[in-house]
Amino acid sequence: MSDQTGSIESHHLPKGATAETYAPSPEFREQANVTDPSVYWKAAQDPEGYWAEQAQNLQWTKPFSEVLDWTNPPFAKWFQDGELNVASNCLDRHVAAGNGDRVALHFEGEPGDTRTLTYAELTHEVKRAANMLTSLGVAEGDRVAIYMPMIPETVIAMLAVARLGAAHSVVFGGFSAESLRARIDDAEARLVITADGGWRKGRVSALKPTVDDALALNGGGSTVSRVLVVERAGNDVAFDEDRDLWWHREITAFDGEHEAQGFPAENPLFILYTSGTTGKPKGILHTSGGYLTQVSTTHRDVFDLKPDTDVYWCTADIGWITGHSYVVYGPLANGATQVIYEGTPETPDWGRWWSIIQKYGVTIFYTAPTAIRACMKVGRQVPEQYDLSSIRVLGSVGEPINPEAWRWYREVIGAGTAPIVDTWWQTETGAIMISPLPGLTPLKPGSAQVPQPGISVTVVGEDGAPVENGQGGLLVVQRPWPSMVRTIWGDDQRFIDTYWAKFGDRYFAGDGARLDEDGDVWLLGRVDDVMNVSGHRLSTAEIESALVEHHAVAESAVVGADDETTGQAVVAFVILKSQQSILSLDDAEPELKKHVAAQIGAIARPRQIFIVSELPKTRSGKIMRRLLKDAAEGREVGDTTTLADTSVMQTISDRVRSER
Ligand code: ATP
Ligand code: MG
Repeated sequence: MSDQTGSIESHHLPKGATAETYAPSPEFREQANVTDPSVYWKAAQDPEGYWAEQAQNLQWTKPFSEVLDWTNPPFAKWFQDGELNVASNCLDRHVAAGNGDRVALHFEGEPGDTRTLTYAELTHEVKRAANMLTSLGVAEGDRVAIYMPMIPETVIAMLAVARLGAAHSVVFGGFSAESLRARIDDAEARLVITADGGWRKGRVSALKPTVDDALALNGGGSTVSRVLVVERAGNDVAFDEDRDLWWHREITAFDGEHEAQGFPAENPLFILYTSGTTGKPKGILHTSGGYLTQVSTTHRDVFDLKPDTDVYWCTADIGWITGHSYVVYGPLANGATQVIYEGTPETPDWGRWWSIIQKYGVTIFYTAPTAIRACMKVGRQVPEQYDLSSIRVLGSVGEPINPEAWRWYREVIGAGTAPIVDTWWQTETGAIMISPLPGLTPLKPGSAQVPQPGISVTVVGEDGAPVENGQGGLLVVQRPWPSMVRTIWGDDQRFIDTYWAKFGDRYFAGDGARLDEDGDVWLLGRVDDVMNVSGHRLSTAEIESALVEHHAVAESAVVGADDETTGQAVVAFVILKSQQSILSLDDAEPELKKHVAAQIGAIARPRQIFIVSELPKTRSGKIMRRLLKDAAEGREVGDTTTLADTSVMQTISDRVRSER
């Protein structure tokens, strides 16, 4: 296989990977939402018919007659002559159906305060907030920036904006004034909704002062006329009487009467900026009818949701796409009961998540591999102190879950029996695209496995032709899907260039993948991160997974660095387990090099291995390999604005420099 085909070599079948499968138990299958495998081929024969049928689960104020308009690719229109109100689909209709007393949100604040909102109560609050926003001039077509902690008002604010036919742009509460301002300007937001602060790691983390700073940048002029402030943490904040308003004072003037109006299916619902792992964040635009159809369908089927008995918990922050699709819109459209938690997993100690699962009887738990590895590092003796027997489905998202972490998750959190759904998707895809269905799919640790019904993906070479099963290549989505990105806000050309220029009307996801002999999908990491060693294209994900399989390794990141003899060489950054006593620091490097060579092949043997104590991660927990590559090649480290902790990179650069 040569470089020209764009294929990525896949040497590392994690030991016994294709042989290691876990079929659904008869008891699970018995009760599962999807049990008939014909769903796949039926949907494949008529994808539009499949999605039209799913869309019927929503309430339309005006029915659609056309499912998909793809006459002007890559600009798709789904259900375009239909009209609906996204918020009332998540609220009013459940109340009307007699489920007003069902709990929508169990909120757990980091300091231990709690609040429960039923569907009737949440609907009431959203109606009041919609009336309040109307009084502030928010209307169809406007954008509202939301910069909040994980509290019920964040959900209320998003739904109130959606109810009015306006679009929200949620900016993660950890972002700086500069990042916030850039997003406000890009979306031309007219209102910012924020809080005085939120609780993180046992302390108040202020938010309102950052909004003040953001709006003071660039000489102070901005599109924002009002700032609405929720009182959460009680920290002192400055108030601009002409601009700022307290939510709790304003809201008292409004009652809970609000008739939701239908808006066109293609009305913008939100703009969300990607996490910026590979470059400048992109303002991803999502619209209403298709988005809500796919998030609710996948939430129901992938997590096997039973709205009247399950207690669902997705740990993602609302500032990320996972929080939009699988905290707000998917679960609420399905009438689910869910937990939202304000703080971090280690506050006051690493038992916090497990105590929340025990307390609320969480049945479906959805988190990220980075969090699972952090919990593994701390050790199983922590979760083992809690009763986690309510858990019946586990989910993973954000990056490939290495088989080692998969097994730990299943065994320690899922009692050795809970199915794990490894869900591949992106900000751009809006909803889950590839994942097992827990009542149907024999699970393979490390693989996201099967495109969802109605979704068609394949793996191609640089020339666009499919590569053989077993070989690595580029992941493409072959047909438009309902929750797809509609454009990059204000930049149609960048939208075309980034995702469509390469393969015409097929969507280029930017990820490497391979199909195994069963046709299951294995993600190999981002194409931007693929290494080329002596003409062999190697996957970061596979080498990282091999490293983590070593008993002393907690976490790893691999990059390709310029090399005079091989073009590029593998450079690995490794965090050792805290309690490991097997490896001395001196022995670690040779031992781990040998381990990778034995697992994958000599070609993958790292040139260097740096033992570090932390890795550079975005605020959503993803490793930023491009920064590690800068360090490995001795360059000034690039843009670090989306990094959770910028000092991490400084430490690593110093460390690399000292060895050059
Ligand atoms: P940017 O696009 O700005 O570089 P980003 O890609 O990190 O940022 P997201 O949309 O949050 O922003 O992440 C989507 C990416 O996460 C996918 O393209 C893929 O690389 C990775 N990913 C998500 N889920 C999985 C999964 N289950 N298995 C493998 N990779 C995954
Ligand atoms: Mg991306």
